[in-house]
Amino acid sequence: MPITGECFCGSIQYQIDGALKDARSCHCSRCRKAFSSQASAYALVDKDEFKWIKGWALLTSYESQPGFGLQFCSKCGSTLCGTYNDEVHGVTLGCINGNPQVEIGYHLFVGSKASWELLPEGITAYAEGKSKDA
Ligand SMILES: [Zn+2]
Ligand SMILES: [Zn+2]
Repeated sequence: MPITGECFCGSIQYQIDGALKDARSCHCSRCRKAFSSQASAYALVDKDEFKWIKGWALLTSYESQPGFGLQFCSKCGSTLCGTYNDEVHGVTLGCINGNPQVEIGYHLFVGSKASWELLPEGITAYAEGKSKDA
């Protein structure tokens, strides 16, 4: 069964013929705003295993840093994926349908989490980034 995802309004859908990799959550102030939430929830995909199956024309892009961007639904605002040099790099876990057989492995930048967030017990957490590319 391929993994599928869609935005809140359902206009845009994608399919991944492969596994999600390196699922993580980042609690930094930038990710909180990008994900409109307490943290990001994001996993990497192989760009050759990812395809849009519906509504691609409704996608809007925002370049957050040179080369890195986010793509979201221009109707409902759901952020669907991250891009690197205009290719899909990963997906937001919140837009995935069903069980994608992956769990968030680690939490980044918990040292700068929102004051109102209470972290659960037992998670693997780093005060800042895990490595230079995190
Ligand atoms: Zn939508
Ligand atoms: Zn972050």
